[in-house]
Amino acid sequence: MSADGQFVIIGSGPAGIAAAITAIGDGFPAERITILEKGGRHDESRVSGFGGAGANSDGKLVLESEIGGELETYVGGEMPGLIEDVLGLYLDFLEQPARERYEGMRGRFRDERAGARIQRACIRAGLAYIPGDIIPLGTASCRRVVDGWFEFLRDRGVRVLLETRVSHFGAGGDGWRVTCEDGGALEARWLLAAPGRSGHQFLVQNLDEIGLDTVHGPIDIGVRVETDADLTRPLTDVTWEFKLRGMIEGEPVRTFCVCPEGSVLVERYDTDLLAVNGQTLPERETGRTNFAVLHTINLDEPCDRPNELAQLYIRTANILGARNPIVQTWPRFEARRRSRWSDIEKCFIRPTLDRALPGDIRLALNAKSCRVLEAFMRALDSDGLLEGLCSNRTLLYAPEAKLYTIRPAHLTEHLESERENLFFAGDGSGVTRGLVQASASGIVVGREVARRAAS
Ligand SMILES: Cc1cc2nc3c(=O)[nH]c(=O)nc-3n(C[C@H](O)[C@H](O)[C@H](O)COP(=O)(O)OP(=O)(O)OC[C@H]3O[C@@H](n4cnc5c(N)ncnc54)[C@H](O)[C@@H]3O)c2cc1C
Repeated sequence: MSADGQFVIIGSGPAGIAAAITAIGDGFPAERITILEKGGRHDESRVSGFGGAGANSDGKLVLESEIGGELETYVGGEMPGLIEDVLGLYLDFLEQPARERYEGMRGRFRDERAGARIQRACIRAGLAYIPGDIIPLGTASCRRVVDGWFEFLRDRGVRVLLETRVSHFGAGGDGWRVTCEDGGALEARWLLAAPGRSGHQFLVQNLDEIGLDTVHGPIDIGVRVETDADLTRPLTDVTWEFKLRGMIEGEPVRTFCVCPEGSVLVERYDTDLLAVNGQTLPERETGRTNFAVLHTINLDEPCDRPNELAQLYIRTANILGARNPIVQTWPRFEARRRSRWSDIEKCFIRPTLDRALPGDIRLALNAKSCRVLEAFMRALDSDGLLEGLCSNRTLLYAPEAKLYTIRPAHLTEHLESERENLFFAGDGSGVTRGLVQASASGIVVGREVARRAAS
């Protein structure tokens, strides 16, 4: 295929899909779009396949510029409009009653009086509360949206090549050349790399080969906390996703991805690594809430490979758990003793993730992260916040880590790199960290490609 007028997208996560749908909406011919996706239509890995990590997520749409990435740094005042466009991109693919129900949730989890009460409790505990408007779609609706996206693209003639792993991209022909692991090659006038977190290693390698300047972002490592849903209700009933931040020993630490009435699950990376995550199925309440507690580590000189540190943590935990996640009760973590089945049995809650094996999370984490996480957990267990958290009602799972550490150093407001017509979007680019901003970044690129094609 010659590059002439072709738009090739690597990765069919929310960023890549939003780029394609937006470009078509802005008049770009659908038959000149190709999406390359290493996973299948429905993928068990939870981080790959059509829809990306988004397809299997529980679809909490966080409608805030300050949460879920740094896209605003690039697009500035466009951000509020983009958030509205993203909302349309999801709700337009749902049936009318569901659409109305979700629209009616606007503002519900940003109650100012409740927010002020939580903020006061945070001040007393030495924490900060970041209020956020949020629409929790839930996994089932999120899947319906992704199915709708698939049908939309297929019906308009977009080539969606599943189980097609891109091994390399670089300058070639009169534009960009993409080579796939099966030996196939494509040329593109416009190329969007949107491979998400699971494509991080692939991206790092290609950025290096192309010779683009890169910068390291922070790494996030920590634990997933599972506790009684009643214990978190004072916060989840009014915020759904409570975003609490702390600064301990000068280190940032925060809650992330709260799943009320949810379950803990496994996500798999290419390199045979596995980590934990969470989801809420509104139709299947569990009586538990889970959320991540993440220590953000900003590594600079002389460390030139921070992402390897995060991977090392994941790998060590996987070794300790014999390729299974580890679970530990809070009392044993606090006592610096490993958990055994007898401890899990004595805990007031049962783990929702069956395949997690009892162990010692401290053996996988560095000492500083352990101290930071422990102190933050105690701060969360304060009046007006998660009272009773540091008890035998709480389990910790590992490894929980987020990989998005290297990004192109220079991206324009259209997310174009220093090389003409080479764009980056989504979590793999290091610019975003959630569904809304990843989708918004795809919209930015889709719009620009359509504009250039038309001019
Ligand atoms: C279990 C889970 C729950 C989550 N819940 C939420 C939530 O409720 N709210 C929220 O805001 N965020 C949530 N997230 C995060 C959210 O899913 C991501 O932020 C979002 O999907 C990022 O979109 P993306 O398009 O950048 O990347 P991804 O969704 O990761 O998609 C990238 C795609 O690129 C493909 N790819 C990678 N490398 C290659 C290659 N070499 N060749 C071809 N294809 C490749 C991958 O297979 C993948 O399908 C969750 C994530 C997980 C895993």
